[in-house]
Amino acid sequence: MDIATTPTNPDTNPELADAAPSPHQPPVILRKDYRPFGWLVPEVKLDFDLALTRTRVRSQLTVQRNARADHADTIRLNGDSLTPLSVAVDGEAVDWRMDGPDLIVPLRGDSHLIAIETEIDPSANTQLMGLYASNGMLCTQCEAEGFRRITFFPDRPDVLSVYAVRMTGDKAAFPILLCNGNRVAAGDNADGTHWAEWHDPWPKPCYLFALVAGDLVANSKPFTTRSGRVVECNVWVRKEDLGRTDHALESLHRAMAWDEQVFGREYDLDLYNIVAVSDFNMGAMENKGLNVFNTKYVLADPDTATDADFDAVEGVIAHEYFHNWSGNRVTCRDWFQLSLKEGLTVLRDQLFSQDMRGHAVKRIEDVRILRAAQFPEDAGPLAHPIRPDSYREINNFYTATVYNKGAEVIRMMRSMAGAERFRAGTDLYFERHDGQAATCEDFVKAIEDGAGLDLAQFRLWYSQAGTPRVAVAQHVHDDALVLTLRQTVPPTPDQPDKAPMPIPLRIAVHSRGAAKLGAEQLVVLSQAEQTFILPLAGPDPVVSINRGFTAPVVIERELKRADLVFLAAHDDDPFARFEALQELAVGHLVGIASGTLTAEERAAGEAAIIAAFRASIADSALDDAMRGELLMLPSETYLFEVMAAGERRGDPGAIHSARKGLKAAIGIALAGELDALYARTSAVALDDPAGRGARKVKTTALALIAAADPVLAARLAARQYDAADNMTDRQGALMVLSGLDCPERPERLAAFYERYKDNALVVDKWFTLQALSLHPDVIRHVRELAGHPDFTLKNPNRVRALYMAFAGNPKGFHAASGEGYRMVADVILALDPINPQTAARFVPSLGRWRRLEPGRAALTKGELERIMAAGNLSRDTFEQVSRSLEG
Ligand code: ZN
Repeated sequence: MDIATTPTNPDTNPELADAAPSPHQPPVILRKDYRPFGWLVPEVKLDFDLALTRTRVRSQLTVQRNARADHADTIRLNGDSLTPLSVAVDGEAVDWRMDGPDLIVPLRGDSHLIAIETEIDPSANTQLMGLYASNGMLCTQCEAEGFRRITFFPDRPDVLSVYAVRMTGDKAAFPILLCNGNRVAAGDNADGTHWAEWHDPWPKPCYLFALVAGDLVANSKPFTTRSGRVVECNVWVRKEDLGRTDHALESLHRAMAWDEQVFGREYDLDLYNIVAVSDFNMGAMENKGLNVFNTKYVLADPDTATDADFDAVEGVIAHEYFHNWSGNRVTCRDWFQLSLKEGLTVLRDQLFSQDMRGHAVKRIEDVRILRAAQFPEDAGPLAHPIRPDSYREINNFYTATVYNKGAEVIRMMRSMAGAERFRAGTDLYFERHDGQAATCEDFVKAIEDGAGLDLAQFRLWYSQAGTPRVAVAQHVHDDALVLTLRQTVPPTPDQPDKAPMPIPLRIAVHSRGAAKLGAEQLVVLSQAEQTFILPLAGPDPVVSINRGFTAPVVIERELKRADLVFLAAHDDDPFARFEALQELAVGHLVGIASGTLTAEERAAGEAAIIAAFRASIADSALDDAMRGELLMLPSETYLFEVMAAGERRGDPGAIHSARKGLKAAIGIALAGELDALYARTSAVALDDPAGRGARKVKTTALALIAAADPVLAARLAARQYDAADNMTDRQGALMVLSGLDCPERPERLAAFYERYKDNALVVDKWFTLQALSLHPDVIRHVRELAGHPDFTLKNPNRVRALYMAFAGNPKGFHAASGEGYRMVADVILALDPINPQTAARFVPSLGRWRRLEPGRAALTKGELERIMAAGNLSRDTFEQVSRSLEG
């Protein structure tokens, strides 16, 4: 081992004593330290006396010695901010003790009944983990480690129990009492309270426990499974939201039918409940038989939700439903295996949405998300493999890497096996591991056995972080194309050296000379460098590579401008057309931002992009949904990634002006075409089947017009706003207006607020539109919005609406003055004591400091140091900030 990487014991080395971890540093948990728990807990009985400020929890755990674990004469029951009111074993008081937050109970025999009483205050729970109050109702969030905030328990996913729950609460305040599984009994008490008993027959880890008590109404519709089971499906919301639940309920039915058809998975209870809550840390939660959702992913109607919101509802509803098999029936052994359920479930929801809405556009959307959210993660100080090796706070690992790259890794297995053999693999996986807490290795083995693939080397995708780069070189030899592919996996924190991984790439060799398309084939690049001989379709071969984005890698090559224009116009894979246009724009914009283009190159690049845009507008074979994708320039975040590749630094300011300049050039050159396009798409009616695509193109065209002719755009946008009969058009118009300095802007923003001030989700949009805007005063606007009476740090949706949006606004956030960075650091500090999980999610935006140009690097690093110096940080924020400063 190299001396520099040898850990030195600070106790024996006085020079390092200052750098020693302080006793307040949260410990590091290692994947390799996994040991089975000493006890099984086959049965759990819970009895809740519910009230907003004082909830009494009585729990009875049936425990049995685990023959597969080391002998123990105590049991450790995790707690978090709990004090036991009483602890008994087999009816007798025992000599329990606390070890930090945990309860240690002595156990002499092989099986016991442990009874524990605790009391909690849901109204004081601002972390939104455990049992908390939201809008007068009570609900729970237990994943990953929230159950320990409700009662003492072995809070780890490999302890599976059957739950019987009794809940009692005030009937007027909480007329509806819900829990996992089936309701087996209910009744009224004389004192104005009522009760319900629930039983979940499926053994589950405690992170899947849920209860809800509140004044709710349901939109209900039964689903009959393929074997004839009638499932009562309910979407529970506050009374005033009932009219916006149809889409969620219909989406659930579509997901249930699709999972039967495509994965052979049927639902396994007579009841499926979904509850919408407005205070929620994430999107939704797959608790067995009782999903809890952020209202954002349930409520939708055309007046208040955009087309994109409708899609997001459908996708998240499906995601949580699919977890019933990939997550609940087969769960995770430990949290290092999170991608076992999340990667697989994201892949399943992506495939579902592709089938519902068209493959190419959905694939483009997913790749855009991967590039905007995951590639930066993989290239920064927080990079980790999809199966991490260590963590301090597991909440920090609900990442785009674990979720989205995790899905890409499984998608690669599917591409290599083909859909049919992949299905044989997942069938074997579900059959082999049903009822178990499994590992990623179990999944890979099942796919290997079921699909008949050799995945020995492929397993590296689970252990190595970093986005592989594939360099492409080609030459013609004896009527064939010789393609040389070279892969490198960049170093990441703790992983300086990487081994080559198998990279499946769908490739076609077209001929520009003969205007002929070549056939597609799948090659797998598994060595550091490899040569492939491919047939030629004619002269001037143009290689179309990584079609459909078969592998989550960066392709590095210098393609002639004419080749890219050819691919953008003619490739038979729509995804490849999109890619060619992106490649054209990325090369041009990064060239401008880094000052490496000559004036002629610049003019030629601009002309090529304009020509490609003109062709995309004119191509009558394209539908508008696809046209909308082609007319979207690469995001500034992605351009930054490309500019900051390797040893280079990125300059967000230069990227912003390059992209802005190109938008204006396109808007000017294509003024006539864009006007006509805008007019055509504006005439399509709301319920026309082509309406969705038209609405997308309409606002994209408007944004390009705005870059060239702000006065005209302001007039068109105001008219679009006033005439809109749906939120997509209204929000699109307001988005364009909010970036312009014109009288229409304040008028329409005020009108929007006035119209929707009672609808929290739409008020969130109002905050976001302004935080994301291209307006020169955006920082001042955000500061003023933080003082708006509707702003609160207690509601994660509102915090994200203002500040996540702002952190994603390249112009405002990266202001050269550092004001944007300071504002985000201030939010982290203010939010950390209230909701650490949400606070820590802002850290990565500051963590890219090493890759920023020197001025902004110093500013972001300074903000991270200021956060660190504040002390008293949560585990969540401490881990993210310290890794960001080290990595
Ligand atoms: Zn999930």
